Amino acid sequence: MFLHRDIGELPRLFDTHCHLDKCSDGALEDAVAAGVQRLVVPSIGRDSWARVVELAASPHVLCALGIHPEALDDLDGLEGALRGGNAVAVGEIGLDRRLPHWDRQRVQFRAQLRIADACGLPVLVHCVRAHDALVAELRDVRAQVPIVLHAYSGSAELVPVYAKLGCYFSFAGTVTWSGSRRGPKACAAVPAQRLLIETDAPYLSPQSRRGVPSAPAWLPEIAAAVAVIRGVDLAAIAAVTTANAERVFCA
Ligand SMILES: [Zn+2]
Repeated sequence: MFLHRDIGELPRLFDTHCHLDKCSDGALEDAVAAGVQRLVVPSIGRDSWARVVELAASPHVLCALGIHPEALDDLDGLEGALRGGNAVAVGEIGLDRRLPHWDRQRVQFRAQLRIADACGLPVLVHCVRAHDALVAELRDVRAQVPIVLHAYSGSAELVPVYAKLGCYFSFAGTVTWSGSRRGPKACAAVPAQRLLIETDAPYLSPQSRRGVPSAPAWLPEIAAAVAVIRGVDLAAIAAVTTANAERVFCA
């Protein structure tokens, strides 16, 4: 079990990806008490837009609007909702080879990347077993906005390729899992100015809570693991990841 006394004073953290609308009651209060001062809450389908916008009424919550490859709802009204509302990013959008309708996924991904670019908003990207296609899409569209690779699952070798394309790398609970080698290796390869952390709660629980739904209050465990991987102290990881996230989402 990871305890706050292990890390001394509470660090100021920024959770760049948390499905707070699917977390248990009190999750936000617990997160704030654990030092998580801001969270970005992405949407999955159109049916979650109103809820994430409502959650962003809290000074601790920022929201993103988009269509996840799992939903593939039509994109009508997305640009208007982004321009007229309080969303700070487009997301989550992405490519996932485990899911059906691959061609439609690519069409929708590309269209949303263009909308984000037109609106000047950063993008939250979900990518599972599709890094080849993602690199190709990013190269084609060349969006001038920050691209956040949420729960980064690519290799260390791909890090410079993505960095050149304007990507940020967000690490989730998977990086804390014992036996995981690819995640830590990639995490060690990311330039400090492109490093972010997230919980993806209620998914991808960190090692000490595997098997139960994750919570944003557990972000310190992920920050601590990233600090160990990169050979720096927790305060340094908190400072750099929070500054990066503020630059991306609060500019
Ligand atoms: Zn997500």
